[in-house]
Amino acid sequence: MLLWQLPQQHREFATHPALIFQDRRVTYGELVEWIGAYAGMFQAMGVQPGERVTICAPNCPEFIYSYLGAIQAGAIVVPLNLMLTRDEIAYIVKDAGCSTLVIHRAIVERLNLVPQMATALGLKHLVVLDETTAARAKAAPPATMVAAKEEDICVFLYTSGTTGRPKGAMLSHRNFLADIKAMDAVSNLGPEDNFLCVLPMFHSFAWTTSVLLPLYLGSTITIKESFQPKDTLKTLSEGDITVFCGVPSIYAVLWRLAEEGQFKSLKFAISGGAPLAAEIQRGFETKFAFPLVEGYGLSEAAPVVCLNPLDGVRKPGSIGIPLPGMEVRLVDDDDREVPRGEVGELVVRGPNVMAGYYNHPEETAAALRGGWLHTGDLARQDEDGYFYIVDRKKDLIILGGFNVYPREVEEVLLAHPAVLEAAVVGVGDPVKGETVKAYVVLKEGESADRRQLQDFLKEHLALYKIPRLFEFVPELPKSPTGKVMKKLLKTR
Ligand code: AMP
Repeated sequence: MLLWQLPQQHREFATHPALIFQDRRVTYGELVEWIGAYAGMFQAMGVQPGERVTICAPNCPEFIYSYLGAIQAGAIVVPLNLMLTRDEIAYIVKDAGCSTLVIHRAIVERLNLVPQMATALGLKHLVVLDETTAARAKAAPPATMVAAKEEDICVFLYTSGTTGRPKGAMLSHRNFLADIKAMDAVSNLGPEDNFLCVLPMFHSFAWTTSVLLPLYLGSTITIKESFQPKDTLKTLSEGDITVFCGVPSIYAVLWRLAEEGQFKSLKFAISGGAPLAAEIQRGFETKFAFPLVEGYGLSEAAPVVCLNPLDGVRKPGSIGIPLPGMEVRLVDDDDREVPRGEVGELVVRGPNVMAGYYNHPEETAAALRGGWLHTGDLARQDEDGYFYIVDRKKDLIILGGFNVYPREVEEVLLAHPAVLEAAVVGVGDPVKGETVKAYVVLKEGESADRRQLQDFLKEHLALYKIPRLFEFVPELPKSPTGKVMKKLLKTR
C-alpha cells in the first residue's frame, strides 16, 4: 500500500466523514477524489516523479489534498515549518532541490513572496492554495498511474537532527506505514473514532498520529488550524472527539483551564515532542477520567518510537516502551550497550527508520552508524524495561567535569508551588567552562526569588547542579511542537 491510497481502503463507506474543518465536512469518497484531482493537477503542470514539491500551509483539508496528491503523482513532499522566514525557506528549497512550491495564500502575504522570488529560487512551479487552485484541480485531467513501491522515498522531513543546519530526513511509504501499523497494534481504534488535530501537520508528530493513522483506520479527523485554548476546550467538551494528540505545553494549559471530569468522550490523549512533566501527567489523570499517555519519537523515525501502554502500566516521567517491531538500546560513546539503570544515548532500529539525510552522506553515516539511528537523546531504562529521557546529548551541561542534566533540575523547579515553567541551560563560565542558568516563569499571583528557589533545589539536588544564575521571564520561547528553544535562551 502507498500513503495516498490509505483513504481508498474505506471506499465501502464513501459517505463516512473523513475530515471536518470549520463548517466543511469531507467524506472518504470526496477525499479520494480530491487527492486524485490534485495529483492530476501536478501532472498536468509537468511535475515529474521524483521531483520535490514543498508545501507551506497551515492545517486545512487542502494541506492533505496537496500532500497526498503530490505523492500520488510520484513526487517527494517537503513540508515546511510555518514559522520559517524567507531565508530559511530558501535554504530548504535549495537544499532539497525543490521544483515546486505549494503555498497558502495567507503565507504568501506574510512573507511578501512575489513570483520573481520563486524564479530566483529555481522553482519551476508556484501553486498558491486558494479557491482557484481547487477549481484548477477539479478541472485537471485524471491522474495517470505512476509505478511506485513501498520502499520509495516519498517525504523529506527537515530537521536539525542532533547537530547543525536543517537536513532532509528521507522517509519512505514503508517507514510511515510501519509506524502507523505499530500504533494500530497497541491501540484499539476504528472508523467510529474522531481525532482532533490541532498540532501543525507539517510536523511528523501530527502528520503520522493525527492524519495518517486515522486515514488508515477510517476514522474522522477534526482539523483546527492551530491550538487555540478556548476553542480546543470547547471542541473537546462538546463534541465526540475520542483521541487527542498534543505537546506538553498544551496539556499544561488544558489542565489549568478545564473543569474536573470534563472531556467525557475522550478515550485517551497522547503527549509527545517534548518531555511531559510528571506533575502534569499525574495532575491531569487525577482531574480527568482518561489516560494521558506519553510517547517519544523523532522525525527520522517517522516518528513514534516509544509509548506508554494504553491499557497497562503508565509511568509518569517515562516515555514507555518501544512500539512493536522497533528495537531500542542505550549506548555509550563507543556504541557499547550501557548496563541497565545507567544513562546512554538512545539508538533505534526498525522498519520506521529513515534511509538517511538527503545529500548529506557524512551526517547520514554518523546518524546511522552500525545500522542504528543515533537520536542524540540521553536516556535510562528501569528494571521493568521502561525508558526515561534524561536529556539531549547536546543540552548536557558539563561543569568542571561534572554532568548536569538540565531536565533533572527543571523537574525539581516545576515541583515548586510558585513555578509554572522552567528551562535550564549552560552558559559560559571562565572557570568551570559552563555554569547552570535557570529561566523561570512564575504562576500568576505567585512570587519566589532566586534564594528561595535555590534553597528549594538544595533539598533535592547535589550542590553542583543548583543554578547560580536565575532569570525570571514572562514566557519561554517555544517551537510549534512545544520544544523550548534552548539555543535562543543560550544566546540571549
Ligand atoms: P522532531 O524531530 O522535531 O520530532 O524532534 C525529536 C526530538 O524531540 C527528540 O529527539 C527528543 O529530543 C524530543 N522529544 C520527543 N518526544 C519527547 C519526549 N516524550 N520526552 C523528551 N523529549 C522528547
